[in-house]
Amino acid sequence: MPIDFQVGDIVRLRKPHPCGGYEWQVVRLGADIGLKCQTCQHRVLLTRRELEKRLKTFVQRADGTVL
Ligand SMILES: [Zn+2]
Repeated sequence: MPIDFQVGDIVRLRKPHPCGGYEWQVVRLGADIGLKCQTCQHRVLLTRRELEKRLKTFVQRADGTVL
């Protein structure tokens, strides 16, 4: 079952961004999923498959739920 990503979710990935940040905000959904680094504001696009592989955990959901 695919992971239910929503715009506004904050996720933690397994490997840090070169800037040292682990946390990303989901900024776009579609064939590719847009993420914004919460440390340096850099944006990347990942395929859903790639993101699901790199995802460690959700930090906060778009509805405000803190996990
Ligand atoms: Zn960064």
